[in-house]
Amino acid sequence: MANKIMSINAGSSSLKFQLFEMPEEELLIKGLFERIGLEDEMFFFYSMKETKVKTSVKGKTHEEAINFLLHFLLERSVLTSLDELSGVGHRVAHGGEDFKTSSLVDQEALKKIKDLSKLAPLHNPVNVVGIEALAKELPDCPQVAVFDTSFHQTMEAKNYVYPLPYRFYEEDSVRRYGFHGTSHQFVASEAASYLEKPLESLKIISCHLGNGASICGIKDGKSVITSMGFTPLAGLMMGTRCGDIDPSIVPFLQNEKNLSASDMDKLMNAESGFKGVTEFSSDTRDIISEAEKGNERAKLALDMFAGRVKQTIGAYAAELDGIDALIFTAGIGENSSEIRQMICEDLTFFGIQIDQNQNQQNSKRISSAASSVEVLVVETNEELMIVRDTFDLI
Ligand code: AMP
Repeated sequence: MANKIMSINAGSSSLKFQLFEMPEEELLIKGLFERIGLEDEMFFFYSMKETKVKTSVKGKTHEEAINFLLHFLLERSVLTSLDELSGVGHRVAHGGEDFKTSSLVDQEALKKIKDLSKLAPLHNPVNVVGIEALAKELPDCPQVAVFDTSFHQTMEAKNYVYPLPYRFYEEDSVRRYGFHGTSHQFVASEAASYLEKPLESLKIISCHLGNGASICGIKDGKSVITSMGFTPLAGLMMGTRCGDIDPSIVPFLQNEKNLSASDMDKLMNAESGFKGVTEFSSDTRDIISEAEKGNERAKLALDMFAGRVKQTIGAYAAELDGIDALIFTAGIGENSSEIRQMICEDLTFFGIQIDQNQNQQNSKRISSAASSVEVLVVETNEELMIVRDTFDLI
């Protein structure tokens, strides 16, 4: 019997999906709905084999998007009947300490995911909308939640407790959770397959560098340390997020500029990082091109970003007591040879040396023969990881 499994990633005004045939991992169709709820119509994009289509669809809710999608899959004969769908895996932002692995969604799990909205108010509620919309259309289809946080649940307390009064951890769940777990786990496992070594035998530093960015230190196949924290605002400088700053800057600016807590939150999440420093773009493609024309602020922003990544690699190499493989993934990590070059420069002390040609070609292995650390560019595929977990659980 065919095992067709779909991944769903519901955002506040979007819904992305991919449908795979498992266990062959053959992608049958992928696409997304955008501008859900903004007007009476939403955009629908899909790609299937060579076909790429953009159209608009009537409706303004996630439920209507899912309803449309299921009928569309039947109409285009991607599915012959809805019973053919063996399971649906949902990306869920926050699993707190309750979810240490992906989980089948029953009433109890759904309640816990809703309760965790306190920790991810912008994300968990929309992830729940996706789960409930699907359940309404296909009440008998097993659904699985795959959490951005669960891979990092293996961190030891010394790496997740903040040096605040301990009661805030106990009473308010304030601790480091880390995010991008699905991506770090996926690329680490791909790297191990590529190197033909057991994942458990490798000390890996995975750099997920996209609009959101985080680094993860992996030992024995488990996350030991990661740079995002209680929220995805922590750690590296990002497209529009500031990453780690002196926490005293927050009350200082609130007083000086008469900003509320939510103004300050917005400033640090949406107006900082590359966008804040350059004052013209959050996109590293624009910034690299301006830096090449001599824009000093663009150069500064790139130096700041590469510097922070480099410092974190150094810190994580100390935490892991060495590195076997350094992985670059996500938009910047997979595509920007310039930024990878800046990060890897002067890391020979750690045994990291890259081959300029391989780096420029975005090859899978970019380390030189002299490098004792394997430096790899690995395309992330969170959807495939979600579908793999769903297939395993059902
Ligand atoms: P992601 O969040 O993983 O989709 O990454 C998106 C980001 O990757 C974009 O905002 C760009 O900053 C960056 N990016 C994508 N392609 C390139 C490229 N060729 N060179 C530099 N940065 C890139």
